[in-house]
Amino acid sequence: MATIDGLPPLREVIAAHGLVARKQLGQNFLLDLNLTARIARAAGDLTAADVLEVGPGPGGLTRGLLAEGARHVLAVEKDARCLPALAEIAAAYPGRLEVVEGDALELDLTGRLTPPVRVVANLPYNVGTELLVRWLTPAVWPPFWESLTLMFQKEVAERIVARPGEDAYGRLAILAQWRCTARVVLMLPPQAFTPAPKVHSAVVHLTALPVPRFAADARVLQRVTAMAFGQRRKMLRASLRGLAPQIEAVLESVGIPPTARAEEIDIERFSALARAVAPAAGGQAPPA
Ligand code: SAM
Repeated sequence: MATIDGLPPLREVIAAHGLVARKQLGQNFLLDLNLTARIARAAGDLTAADVLEVGPGPGGLTRGLLAEGARHVLAVEKDARCLPALAEIAAAYPGRLEVVEGDALELDLTGRLTPPVRVVANLPYNVGTELLVRWLTPAVWPPFWESLTLMFQKEVAERIVARPGEDAYGRLAILAQWRCTARVVLMLPPQAFTPAPKVHSAVVHLTALPVPRFAADARVLQRVTAMAFGQRRKMLRASLRGLAPQIEAVLESVGIPPTARAEEIDIERFSALARAVAPAAGGQAPPA
């Protein structure tokens, strides 16, 4: 069967290299190269970008990225068994694919990437969420990446893009949407993967804004939302009691009813609250 790049179909690659999926590495592979090319297209224009791919496995998504014209792909994979299959892809795209063996949670590869950088990954869900939070909370903003295109369990994707008032709205939505645009670009049923996981999946595309939507100190905003959503069923005057003296008056001063609950409050008002409590919460008040 012809493939998008003339390389063998992924089933043959997996059989040839004995890549039996390992559960402990979260290995649920995408074998449909038309689907991986679609995910690559959802990442935006790759022709002038370096792509950081985390967890390439047998290389389905890697091949999609290269076929869609990625200038350079730096792929980090923990499972050494996948390296020979990835080397075959590198040979088919001379100078455009570099593979690093290692744990993405431990390696800092930013120095090996030339901006603009787009991050694309189909990762085990726990690793993906951990990396997402790290990528959203760098020491300086804008971050090293321009966009993130990441596969998640559907429920996690819903938490990233949720709006105020929705059940899924919480810390992750605020973290993501305070200084990114975030949208679900593709939904995938379990059968899209081999082996099929128990859950549905979704690809989320995040684009970094040059500056946050609303001024606030990142650490203070995170502290406020952690307290507010830590007890999300409580009224804010109760859940935020320890945040600042006379919290009811502070809430009212930024237009938040003290009897409101965290899930009703939008990012603009959480940012205003973070500014108002910044001196008491130990953060720096941003310029007015
Ligand atoms: N990208 C491939 C695809 O779409 O078919 C593989 C996806 S599979 C869900 C996840 C991949 O991430 C596996 O190849 C696994 O070995 C790798 N992986 C798991 N944990 C990792 C980590 N901490 N660092 C780098 N790679 C990891």
